[in-house]
Amino acid sequence: MESMEKKQEGLNNFSSLKLDKWLVNQCKNLGLNRPTPIQRNCIPPILQGQDCIGCAKTGSGKTAAFVLPILQKLSEDPYGIYCLVLSPTRELAYQVADQFRVLGKPVGLKDCVVVGGMDMITQATELSKQPHVVVATPGRLADHLNSASTFSLKKIKYLVLDEADRLLEGNFGPDLEVIFDALSKKRQTLLFSATITQTLEQLRTIAMKEPFFYSCSSEAEIATVDTLDQRYVLMPKQVKDAYLLFILQEYMAEHEDPSILIFTSTCKSCHSVAIMLRKMNLPCAALHSLVNQRTRLSSLARFKSNQVNILIATDVASRGLDIPAVQLIINHNIPGSPTDYIHRVGRTARAGRGGMAISLVTQFDVQLVHAIEERIKTKLVEYPVEENEVMRILNEVSVAKREAELKLEEIDFGEKRKINRHKQLIREGKDPEEEEARKRKEWKEKKKMRKSKKGEASMKTS
Ligand code: AMP
Repeated sequence: MESMEKKQEGLNNFSSLKLDKWLVNQCKNLGLNRPTPIQRNCIPPILQGQDCIGCAKTGSGKTAAFVLPILQKLSEDPYGIYCLVLSPTRELAYQVADQFRVLGKPVGLKDCVVVGGMDMITQATELSKQPHVVVATPGRLADHLNSASTFSLKKIKYLVLDEADRLLEGNFGPDLEVIFDALSKKRQTLLFSATITQTLEQLRTIAMKEPFFYSCSSEAEIATVDTLDQRYVLMPKQVKDAYLLFILQEYMAEHEDPSILIFTSTCKSCHSVAIMLRKMNLPCAALHSLVNQRTRLSSLARFKSNQVNILIATDVASRGLDIPAVQLIINHNIPGSPTDYIHRVGRTARAGRGGMAISLVTQFDVQLVHAIEERIKTKLVEYPVEENEVMRILNEVSVAKREAELKLEEIDFGEKRKINRHKQLIREGKDPEEEEARKRKEWKEKKKMRKSKKGEASMKTS
């Protein structure tokens, strides 16, 4: 029997959500024929002026759920700056701006992306021209607010926090304070996220005006989509890259022009895996925060347009990025929190398509995997690997890996990180030397505490 949800979906179209004809046509032109559940449930209350918290599984059409009603209201009374969208990552900011631009083309929408790593003076000029929509990462927008008065956010009608849980939980606190102080109090506030966290729950009761709340029926449903095949391969840590290479070679031989996204734990391992794969004749692009913004955008664009089949990224790519046809996600490390796992694997099996996620599990990750399985209410299934074949390529991969590490030393990767950290501290008005000394002291104190706790515990057991 057809569920109520399905029947409702069958009956609905964008015009039944009280969207204007030009927007309905624009959706049709872009191949969006029927609203997704989050769109069906959130667009009407947003149009009626309610604050909104929307939670839905990844690839559910969350962006259009706020872009469409905002465009409709904007077209009735266009001025700049009308709407501010905050995003935790630069790439996601560009992606949201793209949706505004594409859907808002018929009304000549002007947008401005304000993110770190791009020229601040160009951004300030664009902001002074009063674009309708500003999409920003908090740090750079706070920098502009602190340093210039060429634009005002006092009249904005909409504030959107995309991936709101990450924005509210992360290190964005001081920047958000600067931004919230600069905003109009009369605005409508819209929060969207793929995971419901305590922070969001708290926000519902504290900060907003009786917000409308929409979420998929259960947390498990939000967590990961059913078209996603979730696998693991267990291996000794030392030979992880040989397994990675075997999986990649096999997958690429079986799939024509595939799209594979590999997540790594750190910028350094991201860079090192990229160099190693290139040495093994697998062209790939790398996306992490120690490469400049133009290279980051170009890596993403080359991957999206299938010029390269493999993108290696840190968690900078795990939130909200819509890369339409990712078929395979590989977790080179197991993320420390189930939420991060959900966001990573959410880059595939989007909008009803199938996809696979393979997690490379070592003896040290078993607890983490259990926590993930508990959260997603699904057991990961073992992915079969020909051990003999892995052993056959082990030597070659180890050589490539060593060469990659030597290359990293040559380009002084650690030094680059230090310089970037110092630049960031200077931007925050702190003295890098003092901060380093403070951190070293903190670290020593923590170590001392841990030691004394261990001592107490062993006294108790003896
Ligand atoms: P999002 O959850 O916003 O990242 O959206 C994921 C993808 O779904 C994007 O590529 C959208 O273009 C697509 N999408 C959004 N709304 C619809 C819809 N109503 N029908 C089909 N695809 C959609």
